[in-house]
Formats: sequence, C-alpha cells, structure tokens
Amino acid sequence: MVWEERWHPLREEWVIVAAHRQNRPWSGGIVEHAEEAVPDYVSDCYLCPGNVRVNGQYNDNYASTFVFDNDMPSVSPEAPQDLATPVGIYRNRSAQGVARVVCYSPHHSLTLAELEPAEVEALLSVWPDQYRELGSRPEVKHVLIFENKGEAVGVSNPHPHCQIYATNFVFKFIETEARASARHLQETGRVLFQDILLAEQLDGRRIICENETAIAFMPYFARYAYEVFVAPKETHPHIAALTDRERRDLADVLRRVLIKFDNLWQIPFPYVMPLHQAPTDGGDHRGFHFHIEFHPPLRRPNLLKYLAGPEIGGGNFLSDTAPEEKAAELREACDVHYKTSRDRQPG
Ligand SMILES: [Zn+2]
Ligand SMILES: [Zn+2]
Repeated sequence: MVWEERWHPLREEWVIVAAHRQNRPWSGGIVEHAEEAVPDYVSDCYLCPGNVRVNGQYNDNYASTFVFDNDMPSVSPEAPQDLATPVGIYRNRSAQGVARVVCYSPHHSLTLAELEPAEVEALLSVWPDQYRELGSRPEVKHVLIFENKGEAVGVSNPHPHCQIYATNFVFKFIETEARASARHLQETGRVLFQDILLAEQLDGRRIICENETAIAFMPYFARYAYEVFVAPKETHPHIAALTDRERRDLADVLRRVLIKFDNLWQIPFPYVMPLHQAPTDGGDHRGFHFHIEFHPPLRRPNLLKYLAGPEIGGGNFLSDTAPEEKAAELREACDVHYKTSRDRQPG
C-alpha cells in the first residue's frame, strides 16, 4: 500500500499518493438524480449525529457544526515516515499533515444553500478556527478548506460537509496566486485582487451581488461557465483576519450565491468550492486577498463541462460561454431558495 508524496519534476508540484483510501466509504453516485426526498437522519451515514464511523468512533450528538479527523486521511501525522528511496531523479517524502471533515449541520437532507443565515455564520466561525489551529502546526504550510458538492463532482455522501487538507506543501493554485500577488505588490504597491475588484466594479456586468463589505462576481477570466468568486472587499490574507461584521456580510453574500445557483435550474447545484487563503509557511503574504471560489462542473442542466484535450492535455481552459451572459443569469436568479418558496405554497 503506497502512501506518500511524489514530486512531479515537469510540473514542479507534489502528487499525494494515498492508495490506502481505495476502500473509503461510498454512499453516493448510484442514483442518477438525487431529487427524491432525502431523510433528515440516516442510520448508516458516517456524518449524522451519534453514528459510528469506520474506525469505530462515535460522532457527537452535535446540534450545529461538527469537526473530526478524517478516518481515511490523505495526509496525516500517521503517514509512513520510513519510505523506500525512489531511483534516479525521483523524489518522495512522507504525506505529513492533517485531514479533517467539517459537518455543516446535523440535518442529513440539507445543503449549505438551505441553511439559515445564522447557521452559515456559525460555519464561518469554524473555518477561521481551523485555519489558525492547523496553520500554526510547524509541518503545515497551507490549509486547504474545500467542499465538493454533488455526484457530478464525485461526492461520496450528501450530508452537508466540507473537508480540510492541512498539508506540508502549498497547493499549486495558491502558490501561483501568492507569487502573482507578491510580484504585483512589489511592482505597483497595490494588491492584485483589489485591482481585479476595481476592474469588476468599473465594468459591472459580472457582479452577482454585494453588500457593504462583501462581493460576489464572475471573474472576467472565468474558466467554468458558472465560476464565481466570493470575497471581502477589504484585503485579508485569510478568513481568520476578518472582523465579525465582515464575516456576517460574507455569510450573507455566500448564502445568496448558493441560493441563486440552486434556483438557476431548480436543482441542487453541484460545485467544487475551495477557500483560497494565504499559505501558513511563514512567508510574507500581505498581498494575498482571501476569497472563496466556486467551480461548478455544469454548463447546462445535465450537461457537464468535460475537461479534455486543452484542459487536461495542455493545462489551459477552453470556455464555451461568455462570463457576461452567465453572470446576468445568476444575478437575475431569485434570492429565495426554490424549496422554501415551494414549501410556502399551499398544496
Ligand atoms: Zn448524514
Ligand atoms: Zn483563488
């Protein structure tokens, strides 16, 4: 069983090989459409309150959020340290780090889009705590918080949750963003993301929604049809640096974006949602502006954007849609979740 990190000398990046995860629990991907009623509690769900997990531990009888160490971690303090040295130019090292799971709610049937504002705010106080705690570990160079939602992105359990990979390397996108931001700050004295926000405000066509301190927009350079960035307007390198007011405002904008996504085609909208935060490697990341990205795989209902020749083969995206048009669709989508309005209608 191979569990280690392997260096890719051509891409200059680490590949986590975690072959022990092959047998991880799987309770998704069987039904084609998950629109049938999902129960609020599922006795064999490893994320529902009070249930037993694969390692024999019991979940708390939690009432809001619940954080635990992933039972099938990709990176861990327990990862093998005594590794066979690869031949020739090849390099490997121990997959040290911490992998965690954050349950958003005890309710199995809900999604982030359906949580109450206070529940989204509660989640936005868990994320900073995790970033600080895990980022302060000496071996951790970066804390990647992300949610995979929907069978279209291979989610193995519909229970609302995200994951945390606190790794001994900085993930590639973050490394690139940190480098570009640092260079921009050095060359111009300005924060790169602030210049992006300025251009978006000047153009205006791709802004989805905003309030006093937070904004959501589809970037000019969007790679996916419905790619959206959610960010505080002030520059903070990570979510733990936000004021309470900014976190509340961010929760408000985040929630509205999630509802608009679902309302677009009245389906639970699948996405990959990473938080992009500054590395915790001790570097100078003053120019890094924390933001949340949405990478939804759908172009139309039931039509996936397949990553193929240009994207997988060459590493650059070919977008089949104009961000200005897609942003307008989202902006016009209702701010009240379709399930809520359906519940309110008699009969
Ligand atoms: Zn559950
Ligand atoms: Zn980013």
